[in-house]
Amino acid sequence: MTRSKKVIKRRATLKGLGAAGTLTFMGTKPIYAKEKSRQGINNNSIGSGEIRKVLFQKVHTTPFIDTHEHLIEEKGRFTGTEHPRVSSDDWTMVLSHYLNSDMLTTGMPQKDYDKFFSPKIDPADKFALLEPYWPAIKNTGYGQAVCIALSELYGVDDLSKKTVREIQAGYEKVRRPGFYKYILKDIANIESCQVNCLEGTPFMKSAMPELLMQDISIVGMFDGPQFELFGDPTGIKVSSLSDWHRVIDWWFDTYSQYAVAVKSQNAYSRDINYEPIEAEKAEPVFTKRFNKQKLTGEEQKLLQDHLFWYSVSKATEQNLPVKLHTGYYAGQNSMPLSRLLGNPGSVTDLCRNAPDTRFVFMHICYPHYEELITAAKQWTNAYVDMCWSWIINPVAAKDFLKKYLVTAPANKILTFGGDYIPMEPVVGHAAIARRGIALALSELVEDGWLSLDNAVELVDPVMHGNARKIFNLAEKEKNLKNVSWG
Ligand SMILES: [Zn+2]
Repeated sequence: MTRSKKVIKRRATLKGLGAAGTLTFMGTKPIYAKEKSRQGINNNSIGSGEIRKVLFQKVHTTPFIDTHEHLIEEKGRFTGTEHPRVSSDDWTMVLSHYLNSDMLTTGMPQKDYDKFFSPKIDPADKFALLEPYWPAIKNTGYGQAVCIALSELYGVDDLSKKTVREIQAGYEKVRRPGFYKYILKDIANIESCQVNCLEGTPFMKSAMPELLMQDISIVGMFDGPQFELFGDPTGIKVSSLSDWHRVIDWWFDTYSQYAVAVKSQNAYSRDINYEPIEAEKAEPVFTKRFNKQKLTGEEQKLLQDHLFWYSVSKATEQNLPVKLHTGYYAGQNSMPLSRLLGNPGSVTDLCRNAPDTRFVFMHICYPHYEELITAAKQWTNAYVDMCWSWIINPVAAKDFLKKYLVTAPANKILTFGGDYIPMEPVVGHAAIARRGIALALSELVEDGWLSLDNAVELVDPVMHGNARKIFNLAEKEKNLKNVSWG
């Protein structure tokens, strides 16, 4: 491709990402206005030809509905390290999730890692700690998402000793009131997010209810269960299993109309092989647990299984899809790969046990994504969410999407969720996802599996249309419009 073509294509791409909307932000000059290659996006290496031109243009101008994030409330970003999810309120915040895991698995010593994320070290001195490890991790999906964010938000194309001050200045300039909307809507072209709150409440009454829509976190309804967290806000005095059922009912009665889904990450501590257990069988185990007696592994599973299905039946009554973590684990030096092997089989058991429940299996059950495609093909109530997958393994995510689209019904795939606690790297993840979606469709057309028209027709549903339908967003938007806490 010629140089001039490259420039045109990159400009079109940035426009598609909404960068044109960044010319003014909060009445100030643009944060960046450099006319140089933003190598992070790297969409100038997509090859040539009409097919790619059409599909990249379409994907880059189509908004996402972001179906999974852990974003803290914006105001939590202005209290510095008072917020437990803010390690250090400087440029390292952008690397604090998920690239921090690659930093440790590449071999960075814990003491250097701790210093890197410490608020006590001058931000300008922090790159020296990362420098020996940076070449090994900057090309992973986690690393690329960060690089793209630094480029798109601060106009800095490479992280180095020389650029770290500029990055810090950009971080401070961007991170101020209004930056959530600026990053999501103006830069990443995301219409709305779905947040699984990690700030100590099962349902966050967000200050931006229409932008940061919320899941009800159900894991503590059945894992534990977490008596104070779920029980206290209800005012219900709990001493029996039926009282606990009423606590669960309260959460659904109170928040279902505002929530988009329910979410559980229980797969981090066990397989998702929940069996239907009657209340009579669960009652004595509940009493034992309530009286703080130790449960055997078998008893614990029995209680969890019963309460899982109780919670899922409530979600189904309220027309809320059930989002379940499957596959790869966040973090480092902890994941038992053997446990993940059970996930795909359990997925189909869940679908069989509850045909009226819409299950959303998250993260493509990476690395077992072929199995998840077969589940979505076989079971009407199996949906697949690609959230997080583009940065775990960008190439596998692209291959997954190619295979999914010619195997299982296209109305059951959700293609983007950043899965982040900090807002900034969402920009990078969205760019990687757009590149992957455009590549997957282009390759399918080029290889003769899809016509160009059919490929173009898939873009709107997979990027936002399916999410609108699956999560009933028209109704939720109405319910969230004038909420008392908004
Ligand atoms: Zn998540």
